Amino acid sequence: MDHKIALIPGDGIGPEIVREARKVLDKTAKVWRHTFTYTELLMGGASIDVHGVPLTDETVAAAKDTDAVLMGSIGGDANTSPWYKLEPSRRPEAGLLKLRKELGLFANLRPAYLYKELKAACPLREDIIGNGFDIMIMRELTGGLYFGARSTVEENGLRTATDTLVYNEEEIRRIAIRGFDIAKKRRKKVTSVDKANVLDSSRLWRSVVEEVARDYPEVTLSHMLVDNCAMQLVRDPGQFDVILTENMFGDILSDEASMVTGSIGMLSSASLNETKFGLYEPSHGSAPDIAGQDKANPIATILSAAMLLRYSLDLDKEAGAIEAAVQKVLEKGYRTGDIFSEGCTLVGTAKMGDLIADEIHE
Ligand code: NAD
Repeated sequence: MDHKIALIPGDGIGPEIVREARKVLDKTAKVWRHTFTYTELLMGGASIDVHGVPLTDETVAAAKDTDAVLMGSIGGDANTSPWYKLEPSRRPEAGLLKLRKELGLFANLRPAYLYKELKAACPLREDIIGNGFDIMIMRELTGGLYFGARSTVEENGLRTATDTLVYNEEEIRRIAIRGFDIAKKRRKKVTSVDKANVLDSSRLWRSVVEEVARDYPEVTLSHMLVDNCAMQLVRDPGQFDVILTENMFGDILSDEASMVTGSIGMLSSASLNETKFGLYEPSHGSAPDIAGQDKANPIATILSAAMLLRYSLDLDKEAGAIEAAVQKVLEKGYRTGDIFSEGCTLVGTAKMGDLIADEIHE
């Protein structure tokens, strides 16, 4: 089949890690006889250098004309890069915010998966880790507290700040449907996280999630309060499959879950809209400290490419083959510097990409 993929290498290590992900996609296309047509787009500092802005309207239009976008990461060193002398709306990160908005990306997926080969990097005790964990955090991305009305006023010398947490049932329903659809492709368990003992928005969240659950009898739904969930993630992470939650709770819980895997260079992510379209990117930044040195771990980007195949192109087998190839290369003891431990073989960015591409078979 023919598919159009936009590639946004971005800044720092972005071009190096996207190059390796493309290598892996090319091998996948060859094995399964697909055609991937790539469109390379500029965003972030790379776009500022050429166009003076972090994202042009032409780039947005070109991205919309593809089936999915794979991004490296954007941004530079905030202390030294000239990009950060610009006004905030012209800085690299503004490009990403604009792209997310233009593409209507409301569902954010962040897997937290502990490879048994990388157990040493996990800060949790061996008896807590058990057989490892494989969690998918599904976070609502365009509503809630970060998008509600806000104000700061001063009256009689007293400053008062207000933020508003708003959700309507449609916003909740569409993310819940996505969460249950994804659970169907996994271990069929959804934990919906809220603060329904205090917040009205959480009580609505809970009741809409229950309505949606009726259409998914094969998926088990449970509810958990957010404070308990924060605790359970470090007490018994193995109990979770899909965690479905609103924007701010998801922001905090997804960082917590990724920290317990211990390896920032391994963590992929996806942001999806109403259609199959999505933006896929590693959870880490552009790591300017190691850019251009063949030191970056490309696995988070390669796993993001696997998510792109699964969620935007419905190529489940191919996505699984990429994930299995990553597992195989780790089993054989190859490591980039960020995940290196005694007795392993240290490899650079390009070699890691070669090794993973070589392990992709039908
Ligand atoms: P960072 O994630 O770029 O780096 C943090 C540390 O992790 C650094 O020591 C870095 O070398 C290391 N690291 C990160 N990814 C790695 C990888 N793949 N392999 C090996 N080591 C890796 O975070 P930061 O330093 O706070 O931010 C740097 C820039 O990235 C900033 O401009 C920031 O705004 C930007 N950023 C962009 C995104 C994005 O594009 N979505 C996300 C986060 C940060």
